[in-house]
Amino acid sequence: MDKQAIIASIDRWFAENGGRMAEISKRIWEFAELQFKEKRSSELLMQLLREEGFSIECPVAGMDTAFVATYKNGDGPVVATLGEYDALEGLGCEIADSYRPTGGPGHGCGHNLLGTGAAAAAIAARRAMQELGIEGSVRYYGCPAEEGGSAKVFMVREHLFDGVDAVISWHPANANMVSEARAMAIMSVRYRFTGRAAHAGVCPHLGRSALDAVILMDVAVNYLREHVQPDTRIQCVITNGGKVPNVVPDEAEIWYYIRAPKKQDLDHVFSRMNLIAEGMAHATETAVRWRVGAGASCNGMPNSVISDMLRRNLQLLGGPKFSPEDWEMAKKLNSEVSLQEKAQSMSQMYAINDPEIYKLDLCEYVQTATQRGVVAPYSGDGSDVAWQAPSAQVNTCCQPVGTGNHSWQQVVCSGSSIGQKGMLAAARVMAVSFCEALCDREMLRAARAELDAQLAAYPYSCPIPPEVMPGDED
Ligand SMILES: [Zn+2]
Repeated sequence: MDKQAIIASIDRWFAENGGRMAEISKRIWEFAELQFKEKRSSELLMQLLREEGFSIECPVAGMDTAFVATYKNGDGPVVATLGEYDALEGLGCEIADSYRPTGGPGHGCGHNLLGTGAAAAAIAARRAMQELGIEGSVRYYGCPAEEGGSAKVFMVREHLFDGVDAVISWHPANANMVSEARAMAIMSVRYRFTGRAAHAGVCPHLGRSALDAVILMDVAVNYLREHVQPDTRIQCVITNGGKVPNVVPDEAEIWYYIRAPKKQDLDHVFSRMNLIAEGMAHATETAVRWRVGAGASCNGMPNSVISDMLRRNLQLLGGPKFSPEDWEMAKKLNSEVSLQEKAQSMSQMYAINDPEIYKLDLCEYVQTATQRGVVAPYSGDGSDVAWQAPSAQVNTCCQPVGTGNHSWQQVVCSGSSIGQKGMLAAARVMAVSFCEALCDREMLRAARAELDAQLAAYPYSCPIPPEVMPGDED
């Protein structure tokens, strides 16, 4: 492998195409399409990839805005990336340096950058493969509905990742790093109790209250919380507690999210909650049924071998370089964020403990900590992909240090040069890493061996039941 030649080829491609990629990300920012409605966004990305010689399969896994784009250059390993392009409701879609509550959909998680940057990386790698005779395939998975639709889990369920040797993806962030923090496993489950209605004044003794069962379940689960693994989180809302006080409710429902650092712990908590539900049904002479929803994913499982390679390339190539205007803009966006809030947000979200970064409004340098073994406080559908193929993720600074995800500031940055510079920095690192992975079969074997050992200890099982389809409620 001639790494210098790879970097030179990829740099050439970005010098010629970086501006065009920024424009495409801006168009997707303007579309601001919500989950499963990303028609124009996915079509724009498919058109781009098709023009660059990728073959497209669409729709896939029963989702109209999901697709797989593949470029194959002879036989060899398959490297892949995950593109997202859905927006969030309520954050607005406006460039401003102070908060204006305009509402409506907006790219508050930077997925316009994510989808475009991943495509840029795949295309740049494709050019280098052609120029340098690197054999293998690079594949782009067009993944809709990251914000709660679990599209990637449905794609995994359809075995779309079979035969992939490495998955390298990215997400816009406030820092430049390759973190091996593990996202939590999550599941969504609704317990529906059915009792017997009765006039609450005249004949309450004839009624069997489904609401009583829901309340007792809530109390029992509160007691359960003491006896679960650390970091397990059980969150709930009562979605149906009856209609009026003078009728004993014959229907009631409580809806839970369960999160745990490991999928096996989550399975265990779930089975105990089912026992509680049955017990409370028995006690109240009601019946209970439960339904696991689409909002489910396994815990993250970053591959240390692929992460090490990606981190080395990030350190070699560096983070984004911002202009004086970018710094000025970031300062304005950060004007109401205190040093303490910055520190809290960076340590909570990314487990970053770097006193230097809190003093900055943007970050150009690279964090070197691996965060191996750290439990991240979030969940994501990319986690399930990591159980299919060795996976790693790079983050680059695309928004001010300390500015939260899903914020209006992130909307602003995702549609302006701060985000676009972060995107191109990430894409360059990914493109070089795709080529390196295709050339280094020994590394791919080591990465696969690590994953196989993890799967031997606890095999993958899809967290979404077979009867639940994309777009179904949680
Ligand atoms: Zn996101």
